[in-house]
Amino acid sequence: MDGAEMTGHQIAIVPEAMVADMLTRTAAFEAVEAVFAAMAAGKARNFPVVREALGHEEALYGFKGGFDAAGGILGLKAGGYWPHNLERRGLINHQSTVFLFDPDSGRVTAMVGGNLLTALRTAAASSVSIRHLARKDAKVLGMIGAGHQAGFQLRAALETHGFEKVIGWNLHPEMLPGLARVADEMGVPFEAVDLPALAGADVIITITSSFAPTLLAEHVSPGTHIACMGTDTKGKQEVEAALLGRASVFADEVAQSVSIGEAQHAVAAGLIAEGDIHQIGAVIGKAHPGRTSDSEITVFDGTGVGLQDLAVAARIVEVAVARGAATIVPI
Ligand code: NAD
Repeated sequence: MDGAEMTGHQIAIVPEAMVADMLTRTAAFEAVEAVFAAMAAGKARNFPVVREALGHEEALYGFKGGFDAAGGILGLKAGGYWPHNLERRGLINHQSTVFLFDPDSGRVTAMVGGNLLTALRTAAASSVSIRHLARKDAKVLGMIGAGHQAGFQLRAALETHGFEKVIGWNLHPEMLPGLARVADEMGVPFEAVDLPALAGADVIITITSSFAPTLLAEHVSPGTHIACMGTDTKGKQEVEAALLGRASVFADEVAQSVSIGEAQHAVAAGLIAEGDIHQIGAVIGKAHPGRTSDSEITVFDGTGVGLQDLAVAARIVEVAVARGAATIVPI
């Protein structure tokens, strides 16, 4: 084989700045829903997550990878958290990049900015849970958290379901106007409330970096669906463990749910067992009935899996290449 044949291969590059134009929330929703279903059907799997403190810039760096045989998607997201980026470089602290590979040959095929993609795939996950687990007549959406991710969560939820009102609580109430602005843009009224008022919500999304529960069992009414999205690390917690003991619990991936997700606490306390947690993909694929009554409390433990990143990145590359927008580099 001569040199030209050996190197007749290309990589598509989609930079961070281009991602917003290449991915609609609908496309993110569909990609995440499909890959959750593939995971539950045993056609896609996540690889163990690597997360390391670098001992440099106080950064946390890691890899989340996986293989979706159903979608023909292989790859990894590399990145993490550089706490001094904003102050020292004017860059956001979370930095990541997705790399995709040809599952047949192992050759790299694409490199995609992973920052906005992460927010959109995370918002898509809670929305998928709302579509499949919330009561169809849900009217009031409760938000706990008002940071970077919360606006994405809120926008995607309002696009997924016809909520009539949003109520929100945040430890730092000065951040709530950011959420109010998103609700306003979507034409839905927003009210800042105290935690007990969350009892008036039909769906609650928690998206904070809390290490102690803020949403207690007494704050939640029968029939509520709760999407727990903030807990993605050992030790973090947003919801009282007793609430999971009373609820039907679903997760993106059960292994992550019991180790780094919201369910870690309920399992440690013996309130639920790993076997009580169901993959949301089983509900999507109709292997599990999901919600079975209007009074049931459902919990989705969205820990964030690498396959979500890869599924969404693959859609972005597809669109960028089709539009001639990706940078194609022979390698
Ligand atoms: P952020 O720093 O922008 O916002 C943090 C939010 O948590 C704010 O609303 C803040 O007021 C609140 N908060 C901080 N300390 C708190 C405490 N002790 N008790 C209650 N609330 C507290 O962060 P973000 O980018 O919005 O991310 C929020 C969380 O979501 C983080 O824990 C992050 O790791 C997690 N996350 C999860 C996924 C996933 O796939 N599940 C993906 C991305 C981020």
